[in-house]
Amino acid sequence: MTGGKKIKPLALYIHIPFCRKKCLYCDFTSFPGRTEDFDTYLHALTQEIELRLSSGMTIASLYIGGGTPTVLPATALAGLLATVRRVAQVLPEAEVTVEANPGTVTEADLALLRQAGVNRLSLGAQSGQDRLLQTLGRIHTVRQVEMTMAAARNAGFTNINLDLIFGLPGQSVAAWQETLEWATALRPEHLSCYGLQVEAGTPLAARLTAGELTLPGEEETSAMFLFNTEFLPRAGYRQYEISNFARCFPAEGGDYRSRHNLAYWRYDDYLGLGLAAYSGIAGRRWVNLDDLEQYINALRDGRLPVAEVEEIPPSTAMAEMIMLGLRLTSGPDPVAFEKRWGVSLEEIIGERAAPLVAGGFLVKEAGTYHLTPRGMLLSNQVIAELLVPLLR
Ligand code: SF4
Repeated sequence: MTGGKKIKPLALYIHIPFCRKKCLYCDFTSFPGRTEDFDTYLHALTQEIELRLSSGMTIASLYIGGGTPTVLPATALAGLLATVRRVAQVLPEAEVTVEANPGTVTEADLALLRQAGVNRLSLGAQSGQDRLLQTLGRIHTVRQVEMTMAAARNAGFTNINLDLIFGLPGQSVAAWQETLEWATALRPEHLSCYGLQVEAGTPLAARLTAGELTLPGEEETSAMFLFNTEFLPRAGYRQYEISNFARCFPAEGGDYRSRHNLAYWRYDDYLGLGLAAYSGIAGRRWVNLDDLEQYINALRDGRLPVAEVEEIPPSTAMAEMIMLGLRLTSGPDPVAFEKRWGVSLEEIIGERAAPLVAGGFLVKEAGTYHLTPRGMLLSNQVIAELLVPLLR
């Protein structure tokens, strides 16, 4: 990783584990408040950047996520980007994303980020209804999403994602449709629409268990998902991954698919820096310490803050490449697969895929397979069925 050796351009992720307040459904590594830790964390993160990156490394995409990166001053985020650029080579055309939550950034902050080279903003909007934002314990209102979006446009952002969640307690199919109509009217370049995952131990899980809140039924949640796949293409967004939609018209020069996230789904190498960040490079995966104090102490002592390293056996890596590739509407890339493993995708999954094609869950096209909308609804089962021989 170090020592100036030339390696393939990387997808680089930097984790900022702070938020203003903990959302009720969240089990990510993020701490509410803790403003007193900002400087020490930034110092440790800078050390990690300097230890991990080197002048022979090129960065194809850089993603600062969290947490809520924008609880840090915009000057601090700009400083991190400057450090990355000083130590490694960020390609001129690199996609540079910062995640932000409405209500945590001003137009001046956004202008500063834009000047620092951030060219993509990912906003946690989650819902177009204040009532549901309250159920989730979000810190912002619908109006604040609209205001932050307008501020980002004024600051010069031409590539904006809105994150949305469906399947919320008390959300009807009609309410979700209204959220999508509201979101598309704001004309972001990209939309991520995830189904709610109820994580054990969160306040939301406790309220559901206590019967204070009720989730929509499976049929309603499926109807919400299917509405995404029908409505969003009509509104000008191409579905390119199970949960992700982008304005994507390469012939006219506009392709707003997330290049950073595409690297994950294509099983390219990625390097994660910061608390609890994951990395996967050349068949090896590791995760950083998730204890803030231990993370800071390791870097203070000049050590990499790695908690666990895992060598991925080739059959597992092959299965992971297929599993992630099947999230894409184009399916796993058969050429990249064969180049990497010396065996064709067809040889590995062809036999098990045939009944799934016949059953309407998969489509065989251009030397690969992709899920139908019905297959996407049951993606875990379909993928598990395909991968049996590799995971045995
Ligand atoms: S803003 Fe995101 S990371 Fe922070 S608490 Fe809410 S869901 Fe979790």
